[in-house]
Amino acid sequence: MALLSTTDFPQTIKKNDGFSHGRIDLHSHTHCSDGGLSPQTLIDRAVNYQIAVLAITDHDTIEGFHIAQDYILEKNIPIKLISGIEISTAWQGFEIHIVGLNIDTKSPVLQALIVKQQQEREQRAFSIGEKLANSGFPNAYKDAKKLAGEGTITRAHFAKILHQQGHVSTIQKAFDQYLGKKGRNTQRAYVKPNWCSIEHAIDVIHAAGGTAIMAHPIRYDLSAKWLRRLIVHFKESMGDGLEVVLPQMNPQQRQTMLNYCLEYNLHASMGSDFHHPNKWSDLGRNLILPDDAKPVWALWK
Ligand code: AMP
Ligand code: MN
Ligand code: MN
Ligand code: MN
Repeated sequence: MALLSTTDFPQTIKKNDGFSHGRIDLHSHTHCSDGGLSPQTLIDRAVNYQIAVLAITDHDTIEGFHIAQDYILEKNIPIKLISGIEISTAWQGFEIHIVGLNIDTKSPVLQALIVKQQQEREQRAFSIGEKLANSGFPNAYKDAKKLAGEGTITRAHFAKILHQQGHVSTIQKAFDQYLGKKGRNTQRAYVKPNWCSIEHAIDVIHAAGGTAIMAHPIRYDLSAKWLRRLIVHFKESMGDGLEVVLPQMNPQQRQTMLNYCLEYNLHASMGSDFHHPNKWSDLGRNLILPDDAKPVWALWK
């Protein structure tokens, strides 16, 4: 597949005023991982929301991207689809998500990493299932597997099962009480994953011709000191950019992320991290890159 170049972006989109022209959203999920919509429905929704450029970035899989790409070609849909993936990595006991954009999905090194991450996901899901069984939910693994279907299994599937079956009143509580890790505290069904390192994820993305972006830096529950350490490590590992704009960010958080980009000479990306339609965020909503930022798509020459 030919990789996208800057010339693929019409001037209006490069300017990206966010409203009157096409919008850009470089982080979204389908039901090939833990998103709620099929790739086809996601594309239809993106067109409805006037998204001109969309990246599908499912967890450790590129299936959704391929299905969406076939659908776009078949129906001749006017949207630019960027190939993407969100890779789970481990760093200093934290789970850090690295987004690869504009990747060659046929890359053998990328495919090898996907196989390994999927095996790790499978093992972790089984262990989570064992822990949940010990907590009184004997069918959690089977039910979560069924919900994930052919797609990547994630903790979000376990959370949905616990919620649907009335064991917790919200998805958040499923993480707070069973699946999550907050600081040093792990909950009852937390299983430490053996994800690849940040360096390896970045190397693989680069080997696949892509751009490596740190996903949602504000969501890792890190102190300012640790966040800076993480960004320094990401930069030293040849990472390309940070997600500077997410829908839930306040102006101060955006400014902080922009400052990190300027200080460490990193590019800026933006995305909704869309999983399901909800009240608080949607595809392309409130995504405008600050004027001083170097957009990630400037790298796609
Ligand atoms: P995994 O990659 O299997 O660890 O699953 C992580 C996914 O679960 C994330 O991508 C989110 O979609 C979801 N998730 C993680 N933490 C929460 C939370 N506190 N509330 C709701 N969803 C969450
Ligand atoms: Mn997710
Ligand atoms: Mn993520
Ligand atoms: Mn995501």
